Amino acid sequence: MSRFQKFKHQTRDAIHRGFDRHIRLAVTGLSGAGKTALITGILEQLLYANETQQLPYFKVKQQQRLNGCRLHTSSNWQVSRFDYEGAINCLTGDTPKWPQSTRDVSEIRVEVKYQPRSGLAGRVLDTRRLTLDLIDYPGEWLLDLPLLQLNYDEWSQQQQRLLNAELRHKLASEWLEKVNSMAIEASEDSAEQQLRELAADYRAFLRQCRSRKLLLLQPGRMVLPGELEGAPVLEFFPWPLSRPVPDVWAKRLQEKYRYYQQHVITPFYQKYFKYFNRQVVLVDVLQALQNGEDHFAELQLAINELMKSFSYGNNSLLKRLFSPVIDKVALVATKADSIAPQDHQKLTNLLRLMTQKQRQELQFDQIPHQVFSVAGIATSQIKKLSDGTTVLDGINEQREFVRVGAPEMPDAIPTGADWRRGYVYPQFYPGFTVQDSPLPHIRLDQLLEYVLGDKLK
Ligand code: GDP
Repeated sequence: MSRFQKFKHQTRDAIHRGFDRHIRLAVTGLSGAGKTALITGILEQLLYANETQQLPYFKVKQQQRLNGCRLHTSSNWQVSRFDYEGAINCLTGDTPKWPQSTRDVSEIRVEVKYQPRSGLAGRVLDTRRLTLDLIDYPGEWLLDLPLLQLNYDEWSQQQQRLLNAELRHKLASEWLEKVNSMAIEASEDSAEQQLRELAADYRAFLRQCRSRKLLLLQPGRMVLPGELEGAPVLEFFPWPLSRPVPDVWAKRLQEKYRYYQQHVITPFYQKYFKYFNRQVVLVDVLQALQNGEDHFAELQLAINELMKSFSYGNNSLLKRLFSPVIDKVALVATKADSIAPQDHQKLTNLLRLMTQKQRQELQFDQIPHQVFSVAGIATSQIKKLSDGTTVLDGINEQREFVRVGAPEMPDAIPTGADWRRGYVYPQFYPGFTVQDSPLPHIRLDQLLEYVLGDKLK
């Protein structure tokens, strides 16, 4: 090897190390928002990037600088691996179905090999690598952040106000009666057993709330416990009555609540959240429109609550806990394949309106953010009929072919008369085979360009 070649190799290695990049891209959203489908879709597009024409806005690919992407072993051995293969098996199996939704935190690593565009690296280097960790976690867990600022009594008062609302009150009525009658007989000997039983019933109440589409549910781990299923840390509940908590219960409930704050909420932020560089927040706007006014309002509240974890003005709780490093947020309306392409902009606008307040906070904190509407896995085909109407073709749960007219999409937050008329969106099922990889998507290339493009120059 000539001296010049040797020098070139050495310089290349040094620049490689200097330029190699690592990014932790987290995806969240309330259950059913589409996290599993979106991460599977992103992996499909990346792993098959060089065999598809589906990524016109992903510049590294369009500029023919992408050598390829491959899955890599994650260095985080404490977190389950995102089950990409399992998801693909579901979507393309003999009876294709949607994969299992997110229940816990999981992650997967992809190595992206590409050629730099210009500059010193462009001249000396042939390739660079970006290590991309995709992390999937339930948005419900972020709803717990405000609990860190409340003591047990303050939290209980807040929950009592929520319990006064009609639907919640109705769903909680049996539990409330049980708390009341057990409280009368509360004794030191039976306290542990009684609290365990009431906590289990409180969890059942939260699950009922969830099935009735209520979203502002705390504590988040009681809805999606992850590895805490069955753990004693979940054996507490907010005090729901106006009379005081029996003394023999008070200390135990307060202790469990504090333990939950210190050993569940705080560690989640310090062990995982602290290391996220970029965040994608998914919102199922269409489902909320279909569920009606109350659910839509609840979703709007929940999303704004959840997004508080991403704005950290100087005084924020998170800033006091650690230095957050999230430097970009993408807000994404999912399942865009359920409406006509000409309505996608309306869907984006609607999410923009729903998140206006928290976006202003992001703006104030100078955290770049953008709103998208996408489909992680697109299951419909759009057709324009000879009479000019647009229809969506897809498959239903019984695996029958269905054709529906393009559903109505509001361009502003609906008002009284709109809600009375209501909205209905088709729920398509996957009908793919293994040969269909990379599975179709809508606008994932724009999302990828936004969250990764600047790291692939
Ligand atoms: P998660 O709970 O956030 O992980 O949500 P999933 O990814 O499991 O999605 C929940 C359900 O929403 C799926 O079972 C599908 O029925 C539907 N869904 C998710 N993504 C899409 C999509 O891109 N298009 C369509 N049409 N449906 C989707």
